[in-house]
Amino acid sequence: MAPRASGEAAVTAPREAPGGAQAQVPQGAQGAQAAAPDGNTLTSVDEHLADVLAAIRPLPPTELGLAEAEGCVLAEDATARCPLPPFDNSAMDGYALRSADVAGASEHAPVTLPVTGQVTAGDTGAYAVAPGTCLRITTGALLPGGADAVVPVELTDAGLAKVTIRTAVEPGTAIRRSGGDARAGDVLLTAGTRLGPMQIAVLAASGHGRVVVRPRPRVVVLSTGNELAEPGTPVVPGRIWDSNSFMLAAAAREAGCLAYRHTALPDDPLALLPAIEDQLVRADLLITSGGVSMGGEHDVVKETLRRLGTVTFRKVAMQPGMPQGFGTIGEDRTPIFTLPGNPVSAYVSFQLFVRPALGALQGDGARRLPAVRAALTGPVRSPAAKRSFLRGVLDSAAGTVTPLSGQGSHQVATLGRANALIVVPEGVAQMREGDTADVLCLP
Ligand code: AMP
Ligand code: MG
Repeated sequence: MAPRASGEAAVTAPREAPGGAQAQVPQGAQGAQAAAPDGNTLTSVDEHLADVLAAIRPLPPTELGLAEAEGCVLAEDATARCPLPPFDNSAMDGYALRSADVAGASEHAPVTLPVTGQVTAGDTGAYAVAPGTCLRITTGALLPGGADAVVPVELTDAGLAKVTIRTAVEPGTAIRRSGGDARAGDVLLTAGTRLGPMQIAVLAASGHGRVVVRPRPRVVVLSTGNELAEPGTPVVPGRIWDSNSFMLAAAAREAGCLAYRHTALPDDPLALLPAIEDQLVRADLLITSGGVSMGGEHDVVKETLRRLGTVTFRKVAMQPGMPQGFGTIGEDRTPIFTLPGNPVSAYVSFQLFVRPALGALQGDGARRLPAVRAALTGPVRSPAAKRSFLRGVLDSAAGTVTPLSGQGSHQVATLGRANALIVVPEGVAQMREGDTADVLCLP
């Protein structure tokens, strides 16, 4: 199954032509490729994502028990094996009877019937209601033979040996008919459906103990950098704590994956390649962070992987996150993303490119950030040749989005306050307060 295109406008150009308030770049910046200031070619966000998705093949389907299937994606339609409900049963606690026996009943002329027994949920015996009698019945209990209605206990005196009924009922009252929810053979969930609690309920209720799914992708995250120290350990000036590997592993888990984090690696090809190769056995997808910037000798990821020939490094017309690498590695051609090291760049890159790729691994093309439109509460600026993704606070109720200050790609503090990314498209250098912007909602 090929990855399906999503209908969501996560990383598309704005749906409205930018108004006069948005500064237009005269020419050339809106196509797939634009000239970077240094003369290198920039690839558009959309083109990079399309190339990534074209290279992803869904994971092979596997059969899992229901408890393990949560978070996975159905690989085949799930049908009702029997009607739902499987048998006629009572919708209320009350009295099962023949509606004709209470046809004239009212507040002023109640009808009293003998109660010949009780049938409760789970009873499998062959009960029957004789004319002129009734049976006590509980919600979910098999409807006794002869009964065509249930009178809720609230409309009676709740008697045990005999019961006084103050209302007439139509045939079928308070009865759930077999097949009223679904008929045997009905498709309950289609292939490609992600299994959340509601879908798991449908499968369980229709008797599916095992299902054929595309499993949660296994993601391995490796960060690189001589400067990186493990959080919780002391650092001296010159060193920083590794935040990317924790962030990316968490983001992968949030996106429904099993994520493994490797301790930070030094900027040393002799350490990087063996580490990557070791991880391939447990990875459906690899993510590295750092070491891909401008090709200096410390850009260990770029230097090491470029030699393999299966990973492409390019500059994407976006801010943050311009240096991107993507390709495959190893015998199984495992997808690998090499994300830039600045934490905000790494995070935005994950949400724009890795998240949809993880969806594609499960045959779920809908794994993009939901997009909305909101009015800016303050001005924003953007390099005209790039699409900017600015951290902001979206107020969905008010329909506004507030750009945060501190938009540097190293400024991780702002990340902790944002719930959205404001998209400033290519060709727009600034937007004013009150302008309507595309906004991506962060998970
Ligand atoms: P690089 O992409 O390796 O050139 O790194 C760019 C910037 O991101 C540098 O300031 C790095 O110190 C920082 N950085 C790289 N990796 C990490 C990481 N795992 N956690 C936090 N910051 C990082
Ligand atoms: Mg580095």
